[in-house]
Amino acid sequence: MFSELAKGLATTFKHIFRKPVTVSYPEQRLPLAPRYRGRQFLVKDEDGLERCVGCELCAVACPADAIYIEAAENTDEHRVSHGERYAKVYKIHMLRCIFCGFCEEACPEDAIFMGKEFELASYRRDDFIYDKQRLLLPLREAAKQRPELLQPGTGLGMGQHYEPVAQAAGSRP
Ligand code: SF4
Ligand code: SF4
Repeated sequence: MFSELAKGLATTFKHIFRKPVTVSYPEQRLPLAPRYRGRQFLVKDEDGLERCVGCELCAVACPADAIYIEAAENTDEHRVSHGERYAKVYKIHMLRCIFCGFCEEACPEDAIFMGKEFELASYRRDDFIYDKQRLLLPLREAAKQRPELLQPGTGLGMGQHYEPVAQAAGSRP
């Protein structure tokens, strides 16, 4: 019995003078891993158009059935995205989301990205339904979470490149 007690105390004393690995959150914060997947955001380009074209590939790829989309047609009078259609309704149910990143992987328009935000707590269930207004970020704001968004040739799939020249709304097909 005494040998077990001595072993236990030895372990305790071994750790007493070591530097603590814990931090006093939220005053102190550990750096996030570069590829950390926090809550998603949708990108609005500098020409004012949304990248999302409402194709629903992200919703199909989502293993948690967390994404709900209703698409609508762009018109010359009312253009929202670069494509033929746009997401009239785009919602992510954060209580279902498992932050796997499949939605980002599936998106052919580089419209949705996993961000770095992780403080999503709320007392109300409704707060966990993130609609388009909460998800949309202007490109420059989005790049604060994913800096590669501003680097040509990186962070953009399907061979796309970021073009910093602002284009007039409706000038792209
Ligand atoms: S991160 Fe995964 S679970 Fe969450 S919305 Fe995207 S695909 Fe669905
Ligand atoms: S986020 Fe991407 S994959 Fe999802 S509907 Fe929009 S364009 Fe399609």
